[in-house]
Amino acid sequence: MIIDKMKAWKNLCKAKDIVAILNRKHFQASYVENIEEAKKKVLGMLEEGASVAIGGSTTLSEMGLVEILRNGNYKFFDRYQDLPFDPDIVDIHRKSLTADFLLTGTNAITKKGELVNTDCTGNRVAPMIFGPKNVIIVAGVNKIVDCLEDAFQRIREIAPMNSKRIKHETPCTETGFCVDCDCKKRICNFTTIIHNGIKFEGRIRIVIIAEEIGY
Ligand code: SF4
Repeated sequence: MIIDKMKAWKNLCKAKDIVAILNRKHFQASYVENIEEAKKKVLGMLEEGASVAIGGSTTLSEMGLVEILRNGNYKFFDRYQDLPFDPDIVDIHRKSLTADFLLTGTNAITKKGELVNTDCTGNRVAPMIFGPKNVIIVAGVNKIVDCLEDAFQRIREIAPMNSKRIKHETPCTETGFCVDCDCKKRICNFTTIIHNGIKFEGRIRIVIIAEEIGY
């Protein structure tokens, strides 16, 4: 199908372009053509026996990485266990801050090479900045936006879906759009911007998938 081919070509161009930008910002970025290649690439980066934490991500869910980590030769800080949130899952989040590897998605990547993320608990945005020795970020080209304002807007648009997915009782799960709520179950509590990868060169690796993955 010519339309599919042209879309794939356009996505590949976008992926190559953002990888060049991210590498100029001192991240270690590379691109792959599809989700299967991304899975192989990420698993190839993990060292056997290493401790691995995972940030909540629809992209990683689509890749089926949780199942692989549960059955692989890793020490997996498994945040998806059926345990009470506090203290058990919170404790896993704390331990995750010392993991050898953090695997995560990102909410947005600007065309200046900034990574923008918003969290409910902070367990994803905090270790992206500091803690785990290695951070591996996987993102589809649908995460690319023009500027910081577009990144914040993107996050406001996707957050209601996240709130519904994790079953938080927030106004946006009724309306479908953000009303900047002030309720206890609000999921948009911490927002970070990673401007570059200079401070710990090589720590943050980014795999761009030349497809639309997750949301
Ligand atoms: S601020 Fe509140 S209403 Fe807005 S997206 Fe986040 S949880 Fe939903």
